[in-house]
Amino acid sequence: MTLATPGVRPSQQPAWPSPDRLAEVRAELAARPAPVGPAAVRRLRGRLAAVARGEGHLLQGGDCVELFAEVSAQTTRAKVAQIRALATLIEHRTGRAAVPVARLAGQFAKPRSQDFERLPSGEVLPVFRGDAVNGPEPRLAARTPDPGRLRRAYHLAGRVLAALPPDGDRGAVFASHESLLLDYETALVRVDPATGARYCSSGHLLWIGERTRAAGGPHVEFAAGIANPVAVKLGPGTDPGELAALVERLDPGRVPGRLTLIPRMGAALVEARLPALVETVRELGSPAIWLCDPMHGNTVRLPSGRKCRAMSAMLTELQGFLRVLREYGRHPGGVHLEMTPHSVTECVDSLAPGGAEPPLPRYTTGCDPRLNRTQAARLVAGFAAALAA
Ligand code: PEP
Ligand code: MN
Repeated sequence: MTLATPGVRPSQQPAWPSPDRLAEVRAELAARPAPVGPAAVRRLRGRLAAVARGEGHLLQGGDCVELFAEVSAQTTRAKVAQIRALATLIEHRTGRAAVPVARLAGQFAKPRSQDFERLPSGEVLPVFRGDAVNGPEPRLAARTPDPGRLRRAYHLAGRVLAALPPDGDRGAVFASHESLLLDYETALVRVDPATGARYCSSGHLLWIGERTRAAGGPHVEFAAGIANPVAVKLGPGTDPGELAALVERLDPGRVPGRLTLIPRMGAALVEARLPALVETVRELGSPAIWLCDPMHGNTVRLPSGRKCRAMSAMLTELQGFLRVLREYGRHPGGVHLEMTPHSVTECVDSLAPGGAEPPLPRYTTGCDPRLNRTQAARLVAGFAAALAA
């Protein structure tokens, strides 16, 4: 598959140093077993179709970025237990099914706003793009993209997926990640023998990030060509016309369960920006699921340079999301969270108005600040109560 005009790098793709090594790794991945089977992908589409019809909810959550060094059977079990427990909480509060979709088994790459960073020493290095691309250490050798890391991502994703039971239905947890690295994703496209459809075997659900969602861009074209359920992040700058083009391209058949839209507007903008988008999607006759990401629009930079997020802002965004969806008579599909079962301190209850640095003694995220176990449970409980009200 041709990804782009030769010599033109599609947005957010690494500058792989050796085309030959990349081609070799891609050929190897293309010949390897599918990490995710087609039946489980179809099963998730079926469960999401019920959410789209208003019969249940979707809970998507997990790390902002997974790190290779953290992959273990024990952490996978803890992450799976966390998302399952939160889905059960929603089910108990609302009396409706909740579909757990983890950010797991492939969330190894990150979009970045800059290609390079300047170190305090003055040295300029390529930025860290996630373990599937390069290493975080501030040295040129580590920061140089290495296609061999795609192979490692594949093997580790397989190990994580083996711990999910999405083939037996009850208790199934599905896997999702941002389909960012097109060299990885396209190498894992397979044909579903039952339907003849092409699907991407790297995860059950794949999403397109806020930075790569240009209609007609390579990420949207990739997603348009696979049968998986797909999602798109929508930031506060999303233009209704742009969204209409995305819906047409990604779900021309208006099939419930195919498309999920993930607004991440921020507490301050959700009620101003979301209505026009909801109205556009309604006018198109699209059954897309509306999933609120209350994390990415509420990120603040602390004086130390760390990113932080306040629960108070997340709750405000969730409430604003619910108000808008209800006003337009649309089903609030659920919530998308960055969270971990570990007792980290990366998010806080609220932030001081003056921007003072809160104490964050256990700050270990590889990228954005995550909710810890109790914070995630409080946020989901609050959301579920509001859903049930
Ligand atoms: C993310 O989900 O980690 C992310 C980068 O989100 P967005 O594309 O919405 O900025
Ligand atoms: Mn993030």
